[in-house]
Amino acid sequence: MRLDPRFADFHPASDLLEGRVVLVTGAGDGIGRAIALLCAAHGATSVLLGRTVEKLERVYDEIRSAGGPEPAIYPMDLSGAMPPDYEALAARVESELDRLDGLVHNAALLGELGPIEHSSPEGWQELIQVNVNAPFLLTRALLPLVRRTATAHGHASIIFTSSGVGRRGRAYWGGYSVSKFAIEGLNQVLADELDGASGVRVNSLNPGPVRTRMRANAFPAEDPQTLITPEEAARGWLWLLDARDLHGAALEAQVP
Ligand code: NAP
Repeated sequence: MRLDPRFADFHPASDLLEGRVVLVTGAGDGIGRAIALLCAAHGATSVLLGRTVEKLERVYDEIRSAGGPEPAIYPMDLSGAMPPDYEALAARVESELDRLDGLVHNAALLGELGPIEHSSPEGWQELIQVNVNAPFLLTRALLPLVRRTATAHGHASIIFTSSGVGRRGRAYWGGYSVSKFAIEGLNQVLADELDGASGVRVNSLNPGPVRTRMRANAFPAEDPQTLITPEEAARGWLWLLDARDLHGAALEAQVP
C-alpha cells in the first residue's frame, strides 16, 4: 500500500490554513499528532484535544519551536466526558478563537480483539463511548460554530476517521469494527443533513495501515518499516481540510 497520489503530490503553500482553526482529537500521539503538526505548519491554529496532558504539551512545544501559531491545549478524556463537558469545550473555542474551520475526529480505542462472544460488556461500552458517542457529542456541540465559520468564510470541514473494518466487517475485530461502521453512518447522515448551502463539508477518511502504536498493538509481528508514517498519512487530512467540492465521501488514504 502507498499513499494516494492525490495526497502524496499535494504540496500546498505554507500559508494554506493561515488564520484558520482546526481541532484534532487524539492530538498527542500517532496520526492525530501528525495532523495537528501539519496543520500548524500550514498556518492553522491547532486545538489539541487529548487525554494525556504531557503528550499535548510536547506537541504544543513542537509547534511553537517550529514557529507555528500558538495552539490551544484541551485535555479531555473522551471515555468519561459528559454532554456538559462538550458544551464547555464549544463555549471556550467560541470565546477564545471565534471560529472553527476544521473538526477532525481522530481519537479512537482499538479495544480487545477477539470473538464477539468473548468481548467484555465494559470494554465494549468504553469503545463505543470513545469511538462513537464522543464524535457525536463533539459534533453536536461544535456544529453551530462550524456552520457559522462556513457562512462567514465560505468553507469548513468535518472529517471522521474510519478504518477498513468499518467498511467491511472482519472476524475478531469486534467493537472496534462496529464503532467504525457507526462512524461511517454518522458521516453519511450528517453529510446528508448539511447538503446544500451550509458550506460545511463532511467526509470520512480511512488512513489504511499506518506506523502507530495502535497498528503495532493490532499486528505485533508486522515490520513497522513496511508502513507509511503518520506524517505521510496526515497529508490526506490536510488535502481534505482544503477540499471545497467533496462532500459525503468515504475516502481511502492509501492505494494498492
Ligand atoms: P494511536 O497511536 O493509538 O493514537 C490514538 C490517539 O487517540 C492518542 O492520541 C490517544 O491518546 C487518543 N485517545 C485514545 N483514547 C482516548 C480518550 N479516551 N480520550 C482522549 N483521547 C484518546 O492511534 P492511531 O493509529 O494514530 O489512530 C488514529 C485514528 O486512525 C483512529 O481513529 C484509528 O481508528 C484510525 N486508524 C488507524 C490505523 C492505523 O494503521 N494506525 C488504521 C485504520 C484506522 P493517548 O496517546 O493519550 O492515549
